[in-house]
Amino acid sequence: MFDYLIVGAGFAGAVIAERLACAGKKVLVVDKRNHIGGNTYDYYDTAGILVHKYGPHIFHTNSKEVFDYLGKFTEWRPYEHRVLASVDGMLVPIPINLNTLNQLYGLHLNTNEVEAYLQSKAEEITTIRTSEDVVLSTVGKDLYQKFFRGYTKKQWDLDPSELDASVTARIPVRHNRDNRYFTDTYQAMPAQGYTKLFEQLLSHPNIKVMTNTDYKEIEDSIAFKKMIYTGPVDYYFDYCYGKLPYRSIEFQFHTFDMAVFQQTGTINYPNEHPYTRVTEFKYLTGQSHTKTSVVYEYPKAEGDPYYPVPRPENAELYRKYQLLTRALPDVYFTGRLATYKYYNMDQVVAQSLTLFKKIMAQEEISGNAGDSSLPLPSFNGKGS
Ligand code: FAD
Ligand code: UDP
Repeated sequence: MFDYLIVGAGFAGAVIAERLACAGKKVLVVDKRNHIGGNTYDYYDTAGILVHKYGPHIFHTNSKEVFDYLGKFTEWRPYEHRVLASVDGMLVPIPINLNTLNQLYGLHLNTNEVEAYLQSKAEEITTIRTSEDVVLSTVGKDLYQKFFRGYTKKQWDLDPSELDASVTARIPVRHNRDNRYFTDTYQAMPAQGYTKLFEQLLSHPNIKVMTNTDYKEIEDSIAFKKMIYTGPVDYYFDYCYGKLPYRSIEFQFHTFDMAVFQQTGTINYPNEHPYTRVTEFKYLTGQSHTKTSVVYEYPKAEGDPYYPVPRPENAELYRKYQLLTRALPDVYFTGRLATYKYYNMDQVVAQSLTLFKKIMAQEEISGNAGDSSLPLPSFNGKGS
């Protein structure tokens, strides 16, 4: 008898599995894919270059708790991601900052002038509701058209005016010359890659892992007390209220017989191509190799569910499913797909760490708790 059946071996499932296992619980982790790691899964391609199967994953967080927790299972390689956008025949930094404006428009603004410059371009919008409002109200129409409108249309097949403000609000506008994509306190990549990190996370003897298995194939034949579900929430309920929209992507990989393919880790193509961005993995991983591998991202409607689509009608539909989840005291829903939230990796890790504390508190009340005070295992550098 397992204490927990955990559906999904991505960050949401693997973190809660590790925490529960350390607290003395027997857990079974199932994933329908043929590997662990969820969307962060990485592997060596035929040229011997470490690539991310489901698109580039760059780790960044402001949470010391999350960074320290994951640091028990991996060494870190410091890495600050930089992105250029292909606009008007130039490659300019995104997020838009002072360097972007000067390069794009041939200006010589300094840090004291940039705010007034952007204010003179920005549109007055009293209530910021949509992704269009966010951008127009900070940088105005021209930059909106050049950097955001086409990219967003490609990525989501929606106009920015049809998406929640939170989507384009992920990309700040800076008044300084900081070209980094993220400014989080902790920015680093797992030194041996994500899959190795997951091998460590799932290496506890109380954890069994079963891949190539949809949980619906085994849930009636395996004895377990409670479930943690990290797959798409609508699938759990057999789409009883209809399908929640998730956006998918086709990833096209190419290996080139050259050491360096492009100027920086990622180049965004807001307008002129059917793909949104091209990422060269060696920048992210620090690997040395005479060849180089890149991935092109072509957004599409059908396929693996990668992105929840943040807009009011989808939030409404999710709320109906969420009400159903609340009626199931023995099933916990966590992660990007199960809670229909556009979360980064660190947010998913934090969500599962919080869920673990909640479960332990509940078990303490009902007198079931194992040893939740067990220390974290220390990293031994070996895969399982
Ligand atoms: P997932 O990783 O999706 O794991 C869920 C698992 O559940 C999957 O392995 C799936 O196979 C399994 N599953 C689903 N249904 C079933 C079933 N019925 N039975 C058994 N198993 C099932 N975040 C960042 O912080 N930085 C980035 O740079 C970044 N880049 C990204 C780029 C792309 C293209 C995408 C799509 C996402 C990116 N993210 C990034 C987000 C990151 O991938 C997620 O936050 C994180 O992987 C979510 O973890 P999860 O465990 O919730 O979901
Ligand atoms: N975005 C854009 N142009 C860009 C970069 C981002 O319009 O050059 C918008 C687009 O809507 C995108 C969102 O901002 O989906 C979030 O971008 P991010 O890079 O965070 O996307 P992710 O890495 O999650 O795919």
